Amino acid sequence: MRIGPVTAPNRFYQTPHALGTGNAMPHTRAAMRGVRAEGGWGVVNTGYCSIHPSSDDAPLPYCHWWDDEDIPVHALMVDAVHRHGALAGVELWHGGSDPGNRFTRATPMSASGVPVHRIYPGWMSLTTPRPMDLRDIRELRGWFVDAARRARSAGFDIVYVYAGMGYAPYEFLLREILEEMKEAVGRACAVAVRFSSDALLELPGEELPSEAHEVIALLADVPDLWDVKSADWTVETASARFSEEGAQEPWTSFVKPLTTKPVVGVGRFTSPDEMVSQVRRGVLDLIGAARPSIADPFLPRKIDEGREDEIRECIGCNICVSSYHDGVPVRCTQNPTMGEEWRRGWHPERIPPGDPETRVLVVGAGPAGLECTRALGQRGFKVTLAEAGEELGGRVTIEATLPGLSTWARVRDYRTHLIQTMANVDVYRGSPLTARDVLDFGCDHAVIATGARWTREVLGADGDPAPGFDGELVYTPDDILSGAELDGSVVIYDFDHYYMGSCLAELLRQRGHDVTIVTPANAVSAWTFMNNELVRIRERMIELGVGNVTEHQVKDFCDGAVRLTSVYRGGKQISLPCRSLAVVGVRARNDELFQELRANPDGIDDAGIASVRSIGDCRAPGAIVHAVHSGHECARTIDSDDATEAIAWERTTV
Ligand code: ADP
Ligand code: SF4
Repeated sequence: MRIGPVTAPNRFYQTPHALGTGNAMPHTRAAMRGVRAEGGWGVVNTGYCSIHPSSDDAPLPYCHWWDDEDIPVHALMVDAVHRHGALAGVELWHGGSDPGNRFTRATPMSASGVPVHRIYPGWMSLTTPRPMDLRDIRELRGWFVDAARRARSAGFDIVYVYAGMGYAPYEFLLREILEEMKEAVGRACAVAVRFSSDALLELPGEELPSEAHEVIALLADVPDLWDVKSADWTVETASARFSEEGAQEPWTSFVKPLTTKPVVGVGRFTSPDEMVSQVRRGVLDLIGAARPSIADPFLPRKIDEGREDEIRECIGCNICVSSYHDGVPVRCTQNPTMGEEWRRGWHPERIPPGDPETRVLVVGAGPAGLECTRALGQRGFKVTLAEAGEELGGRVTIEATLPGLSTWARVRDYRTHLIQTMANVDVYRGSPLTARDVLDFGCDHAVIATGARWTREVLGADGDPAPGFDGELVYTPDDILSGAELDGSVVIYDFDHYYMGSCLAELLRQRGHDVTIVTPANAVSAWTFMNNELVRIRERMIELGVGNVTEHQVKDFCDGAVRLTSVYRGGKQISLPCRSLAVVGVRARNDELFQELRANPDGIDDAGIASVRSIGDCRAPGAIVHAVHSGHECARTIDSDDATEAIAWERTTV
């Protein structure tokens, strides 16, 4: 596919996306991008890179091109991408009024000096931008050209102007910047634009042409490539709970008729049929992906080799987004090697072989046990997986039945599919094992992955469990998901703060209950600010008529009412009538089997078992991403002297 003066080897296009590494981790970044090129992505881009200290996004991890010292930092990634025959692209960014410049303390500037208005403060800074004068305008254009020249010196093939989300070129000067960059580097590099269309776009049924049509028609063939996306990154990265594959089509499909240049867009594409459909129907020329390329860096290669059934499909959970917000290298629920490529040398497809005579028993087939079994099987060990229930998947099988979470079953399906092709792995369902069973089984290593359970524990103001919540009409998520019939109106007391509280509210509304969520936080599912779901969850709760009482704790539940106290001193008590109480708070380890084995070192020795480990929720209840990572880490280290979680990282010297 021709893109200006360069040619992409195929239509698989890893669009710019943040990696959580910034300039501080160039090796980590190079390895994270290089592995996508190895996996067949024809174009691999950086995330947003600031062109000047007047656009500083700290504390979020962004990259920069502030002077020539930055060239070798980026060249590492270019080399890693070129090594596999892909094109390397760089997204040049000046945030205008958006960034707070907390690190550089340069006064933010923008076309008008008008600050970005936000409903939710989030990463908002407390500064107001100053309006740019003629000198600023001249300098801004120059900074883009300087950064483009540096990028070309580093070897990049595509240089982007990021004109989205209210950033400087979204407001003005886009044509001038594109033309000057083309003049400076356009013979060697394609000059692309990343453009947010939806804020300027009339929606279907409204009068056309919109401002988005006008802008794109005016600039039609000025850039060498149009990369079109949403202006709101909570929409652009909407989770699977709130959007389908291909959901961005209304914001991209109008572009191709307006330009002769190639068009790329995203849509959490994981299905080859949907990708082909986008190209055949003339919506996109290149299939853009961020999350699908994180979940499976080898997605293109698998399609090319007819191994579509081995694709590790993104589940749309947005843990990757939350890790960027955490300021750490991006992690992925489906791909436990993400972010570990350089520092631990983990490859998403290859794993060192183990001794085929070594026998490993894995107990429990949730995400931790399944990933551990899959990776142990790939290493060539003799593996036995024993699961108490008839179904595999543990918590993901159960949670995938919650409204909007059906894609989560992919965590199970990807692994069970591969496991069943392995001749060295035996799976036994309906096999609840005791400590005696484990000792008698005859294995060299035992891995206990027996998960966790929700408790009815309600924490009082002092953080200790409050008495009186073990009565009949008090339920846990496990009770509700295993079919408990609740009575009448329900209060969900949610101090877990993630998805479970609001998902249960949705489920119980579907079953016809009146539902109110009570939470000590200042919002329902408050943590989901981190994975960009917060606003969508609030909208869904409003749509479903779910009530909420925030900043309150449940004190007691009796006589058909819960009594609530404010989390603030001086706050009032509230009494809320309800028939049933669902508690979404504390999860307890199912580690009785592990503890019993650990308490019997002589028995373990006599049985010839070299190690007994606990992994996943049995070790420490957490999110699915943690369970999968824990299972993978155990499989990689089971035969090494390093204890699990040894901090055996590669580090650079200063
Ligand atoms: P994780 O998230 O850590 O993988 P899950 O709770 O999803 O944990 O899965 C744990 C699995 O372990 C469940 O499928 C459960 O049925 C299974 N399990 C629990 N105890 C035993 C046992 N004693 N023997 C075999 N399987 C067990
Ligand atoms: Fe997809 Fe979740 Fe992985 Fe992000 S963390 S790439 S949303 S599976």
